[in-house]
Amino acid sequence: MLSTMQDVPLTVTRILEHGALVHGESQITTWTGEGEPHRRSFREAGERAHQLAHALRDDLGVSGDERVATLMWNNAEHVEAYYAIPSMGAVLHTLNLRLPAEQLVFIVNHAADRVVIANGSLLPLLAPLLPQLPTLEHVVVSGPGDRSLLDGAGVSVHDYEELLAGKPTVFDWPEIDERQAAAMCYTSGTTGDPKGVVYSHRSIYLHSMQVNMAQSMGLTDLDTTLVVVPQFHVNAWGLPHATFMSGINMLMPDRFLQPAPLAEMIESERPTHAAAVPTIWQGLLAELTAKPRDVSSLTQVTIGGSACPPSLMAAFDDLGMRVCHAWGMTETSPLGTIARPPAHVVGTEEEFAYRLTQGRFPAGVEARLTGPGGERLPWDGESAGELEVRGPWIAGAYYGGSDGEPLRPADKFSEDGWLKTGDVGTISADGFLTLTDRAKDVIKSGGEWISSVDLENALMSHPDVTEAAVVAVPDERWGERPLATVVLREGSTADFASLRAFLADEGKIAKWQLPERWSIVEAVPKTSVGKFDKKVIRKRYAEGDLDVTKL
Ligand code: AMP
Repeated sequence: MLSTMQDVPLTVTRILEHGALVHGESQITTWTGEGEPHRRSFREAGERAHQLAHALRDDLGVSGDERVATLMWNNAEHVEAYYAIPSMGAVLHTLNLRLPAEQLVFIVNHAADRVVIANGSLLPLLAPLLPQLPTLEHVVVSGPGDRSLLDGAGVSVHDYEELLAGKPTVFDWPEIDERQAAAMCYTSGTTGDPKGVVYSHRSIYLHSMQVNMAQSMGLTDLDTTLVVVPQFHVNAWGLPHATFMSGINMLMPDRFLQPAPLAEMIESERPTHAAAVPTIWQGLLAELTAKPRDVSSLTQVTIGGSACPPSLMAAFDDLGMRVCHAWGMTETSPLGTIARPPAHVVGTEEEFAYRLTQGRFPAGVEARLTGPGGERLPWDGESAGELEVRGPWIAGAYYGGSDGEPLRPADKFSEDGWLKTGDVGTISADGFLTLTDRAKDVIKSGGEWISSVDLENALMSHPDVTEAAVVAVPDERWGERPLATVVLREGSTADFASLRAFLADEGKIAKWQLPERWSIVEAVPKTSVGKFDKKVIRKRYAEGDLDVTKL
């Protein structure tokens, strides 16, 4: 028997229209570096999304499910593109501006982008790539920048504001099947070509509702969220959509992502929430230590993208900024888990340990653990295996190109359709995930696994260590052993023996897991989205590029 309920498609268009109408007074504030920040209401942004759709259709001929790319920072115009493009039936393709040039070229060509909306400040990045982008016909430039860089590049150049000027503020949105593509984002993986994840209207709608649940980020129109996590990386963790659903104000940092301007915008714009990867927060912490500021408005901070070091969580707690740890991937929209401790531990000593886990699975994400031999492992908080997930906002395949079938590589998708995350960890009986490693980063020493993350966290809790990355290196006797690369605070006199003793102290790390190979580095190499790039460290080691001491 079918239900008697209405079958209204869950679309991005509906999120836009709701936000612009019901939460029309909520604000998108974009930081400008100097002078007053730029302010735009949801109502204005909504009208401009209609105008942008007209411009794309009437002037640039965007039709059907064409991909329209953005090469932009987090700002109000990028939010407009987030809504206009999917609502007109086209597909928003956010370009990660930190990808190496050859990967950017690969993804624009793979998605066959014909139009790109770019911030003027990013033209020096885009212009040299144009000769390698045969499908690209139009560049729409938003904000100041040197447009002459595009001269003679064989593309039509348009000004974003001029295109919008005078366009009708009502576009007749088509009714879209909720399973149609709305947006795509290529993985920023460090191996192989990037792979395209294509989000549907439905997946974005459901994911946004999840972001807004009280047990998740749980924000309302009383809040302002500082969206540091880039719009070019997994839809800024769903925040540009979640905000329009609930009227949450957005503070957008544009290109001002360094610790000092971040601290300044927190002090002057007083956001209540912020979201970013740990490296951003490490930088902000150092800035606030050197130059204290009034950051008292910021009471909630969502940290994800890589493991939140316990020392960072504790330091933020001391500043009154409560950290909520979350896990996710490009393939999971990204919210997979979020670490709100269960009621029975709140206020007890156990609470901190729960908050340090990657978090609890929401109703929309099913999870299972698979052992090395393909066996299912129990949720006992001890058995470690590869995490597999499924759900309405989890990818079931990668984009295969406009003529190709969707790609389902066997190392990424199980035969029965679950996503193999490549993350290794345990799940407790009450559904909390603790990651111990990436499958490819785990150190296999004498048949036992050593968690590189545990070693890194222990090292980073040393007062003289600002960053630490641990990788597996080949070892004749044990197969693999850990190599610890550390960044020391300026003026530190700590030596390797004392760091090793610190790890061994109070049984933090078992004796057999203690690294014997050590190296001081100036900075840990990072990927395009600010995660430790361990591939680079392994390569440097293999090429004899690191100054390694063996204890
Ligand atoms: P990306 O697709 O670039 O967002 O990368 C996803 C990967 O980031 C995951 O598969 C994890 O390896 C890692 N990751 C994300 N969040 C966390 C977290 N809270 N703790 C540890 N690793 C994380």
